[in-house]
Amino acid sequence: MMQKNDVIEVTIEDMSAAGEGIGKADGFPLFVKDAIIGDTAKVKVMKVKKNYAYARLMEIVMPSVFRVPAKCPIARPCGGCQIQEMVYEKQLEWKETKVVNNLKRIGGFSEELLKEIVEPIVGMEKPFRYRNKAQFPFGTDRSGKIVTGFYAGRTHNIIANTDCPLGVEINQRVLEHVMDYMEQMQIKAYDEETGSGLVRHVLIRYGFVTKEIMVCLVLNAEDTTGLKQVERLIEALMQIEGMTGIVVNFNQKRNNVILGASCETLWGQNYITDYIGSIQYQISSLSFFQVNPRQTERLYGLALAYADLKGHERVWDMYCGIGTIALFFSQKAKEVIGVEVVPQAIEDAKENARINKIENTTFYVGKAEVVLLQLYHEVERQREEVVVVDPPRKGCDKKLLETIVEMSPEKVVYVSCDSATLARDLKFLCGNGYGLRRVRAVDLFPMTVHVECVTLLTRSEATQ
Ligand code: SAH
Repeated sequence: MMQKNDVIEVTIEDMSAAGEGIGKADGFPLFVKDAIIGDTAKVKVMKVKKNYAYARLMEIVMPSVFRVPAKCPIARPCGGCQIQEMVYEKQLEWKETKVVNNLKRIGGFSEELLKEIVEPIVGMEKPFRYRNKAQFPFGTDRSGKIVTGFYAGRTHNIIANTDCPLGVEINQRVLEHVMDYMEQMQIKAYDEETGSGLVRHVLIRYGFVTKEIMVCLVLNAEDTTGLKQVERLIEALMQIEGMTGIVVNFNQKRNNVILGASCETLWGQNYITDYIGSIQYQISSLSFFQVNPRQTERLYGLALAYADLKGHERVWDMYCGIGTIALFFSQKAKEVIGVEVVPQAIEDAKENARINKIENTTFYVGKAEVVLLQLYHEVERQREEVVVVDPPRKGCDKKLLETIVEMSPEKVVYVSCDSATLARDLKFLCGNGYGLRRVRAVDLFPMTVHVECVTLLTRSEATQ
């Protein structure tokens, strides 16, 4: 029987959903962080569970043919990227297989059907520097120097790094300005242990098309009174080309939620603008926006192609956020109705419709599962209805799926960031009159284990 601290040689044959390599010793699975499929490695057993164990990578005896050097010097301890040491083509293959396996195992779809309808995953030509948003925690190192970087996986120890290779290069300049000024003005970083110190996090948003930059300083303060010190920092940040807004967010809570509820604009605007396709979006500091704008454009382009709108359809955009999909679809549909639970996001959605002079969208605040049921009973039924859903990881609420079945639109386009809950929801829809027609994964998060997916369902009788 395997025991803690045993050192064993294993060959990695598979990878877990969390990105750990999986190897077997006497048929007993070992989960090894940072090991890649194909590696033969010496590993040390850390924790033995009933049916599996966790082990630490000690030495790679024979590297996998899929192994590449990490671009980032702190890839392993940071843990933000889980699979940076696997060659990108293999990452894509693994992600596609993960989606297909979930559709098979959880969704109950047959191998033959999936072989026929699953289209090849959409990867990036350059899978680095793709993120439009970054958030860096601030702290103090043992020698008393200000430090920023990333939390070492699952801890709150900051590993110094101002240049995450997934983020844009400008992040580093912003962070260095902030750190220099903090040192010069003796402004203290927040200390989680004592709740003292001022600067907690720095958030940076960047518009890939517009090149606009917004910096949000998350401060352990009630308001801006007494923050005279920050004025010189603002002057320095203003000099950076593209800077359009400097905002503070107030967070005095003793927890690890990054943002507090209120913001104040110190200079410029409290949003950046950017484009997905020809639609302009205003993105305020607190709103959700996809982090990879280039791949988002491809994802929503595919969703639109799957919907194959002719111009007379009414589209329901459930979980619409700031209206990204609704506005993107509005150019091809008769009308689009968006539903989202966060009121600020709906305000942004309405504002985004206005600045793009789009007049065929309506947005509602509320839970998708509640609002769709109410609305579709109230509105007159159109000849063609299309429902688009883009839920968070936990997938769609059962009530929403039941309502969709009841209203019975010709097409459902399901955009998902979690193929396990996607498979569960598709199983329900396909057990209730729908057929799965198209599936395609899109890699919005290279170097991580996450993957987006777009699927098309149509009413079964529609194709007969
Ligand atoms: N389609 C948008 C947002 C997708 S993220 C975009 O591409 O930008 C999922 C969104 O669902 C978030 O904005 C979240 O606030 C919202 N949400 C979560 N639960 C919800 C619910 N029950 N009803 C409606 N919206 C919900």
